[in-house]
Amino acid sequence: MARVYNFSAGPAVLPEAVLERARAEMLDWHGSGMSVMEMSHRGKEFIAIAQKAEADLRRILGIPATYKVLFLQGGASLQFAMVPLNLLGDKGRADYIHTGEWSKKAIGEAKRHGQVSVAADAASSKYTHIPAQSEWRLDPGAAYVHYTPNETIGGVEFHWVPETGDVPLVADMSSTILSRPIDVTRFGVIYAGAQKNIGPAGLTIAIVREDLIGRAGPNVPAMLNYKTQADNESMYNTPPTYAWYVAGLVLEWIDAQGGVTALADLNRRKADKLYRAIDASEFYRNPVAKDCRSWMNVPFTLADPALDDAFLKGAKAEGLVTLKGHRSVGGMRASIYNAMPEAGVDALVEFMAEFERTRG
Ligand code: PMP
Repeated sequence: MARVYNFSAGPAVLPEAVLERARAEMLDWHGSGMSVMEMSHRGKEFIAIAQKAEADLRRILGIPATYKVLFLQGGASLQFAMVPLNLLGDKGRADYIHTGEWSKKAIGEAKRHGQVSVAADAASSKYTHIPAQSEWRLDPGAAYVHYTPNETIGGVEFHWVPETGDVPLVADMSSTILSRPIDVTRFGVIYAGAQKNIGPAGLTIAIVREDLIGRAGPNVPAMLNYKTQADNESMYNTPPTYAWYVAGLVLEWIDAQGGVTALADLNRRKADKLYRAIDASEFYRNPVAKDCRSWMNVPFTLADPALDDAFLKGAKAEGLVTLKGHRSVGGMRASIYNAMPEAGVDALVEFMAEFERTRG
């Protein structure tokens, strides 16, 4: 069986070594005589798996003891609701930075729960640049500031962290977490769906500063209250055990790669190669301002959209799959998360040049 290079935006490519390990441990995890899938979440085997994954994530990202790490369900989309439900408190209002489709979704959901002010909006550039912080209208009385460090659809990424003073900064890191080192102390809440850089779909990670826990109102469902989840070590109910286990394997793989510092070098190199190929050609185009191009999601268009289908078909024949752009923007999108080998990017660049030469 030949593995393809899978450029899916998520669920996305996982490291082959992780899949091999999961396969080797599938029927009998460490002599337990059972699969992790079959274990009680309260048994000592699974508790050990869960605790190791959390400890590894804390070490890899440098998460201080003053933050809780929650292993949740519901995807990043549920965090769009949980963030306001848990953080708005008496202030009742929050600032949002609108840089694309995912911030728009976060804004839409937050509006159900409180007063939302869009403190900056990249609409004038059709969401191809990030407004400088000097242009933001931040409210010092806001309960928090929410932003999307990497817009998975638009391919727009912050290569800097906003400065919000005493107002907690909340980040939807779904498509950028673990791609580079971060200073966790700059954030009040970081959340991410797992299915891009962490592991399989079904798991969502929230890293929450402890003083922000316990602010939810009495009507907030127990499951949606960070306090319930924190007080119960993310085991108030049955967590997504298998996804948690595979995430643990991915974290061990990240360590074996040299951690997020080494991955950041690799990610930058992979992205540079692809953007260079796009910029050097008259045939391919990426619309995003150079200082905020994503390392993880690279959208690009062909000079003639009538050739899109031929491009996708030709790519597939070379083992390069899931390159079709998001339905809202068309064209192509190459998602090149941590687990995408550099050889996959090289193969894509080579195919693009060949396609341009023969069809462009
Ligand atoms: N935020 C971002 C930045 C995303 O890329 C996605 C999914 N592609 C979401 C939120 C929604 O995530 P989920 O499907 O886990 O709810």
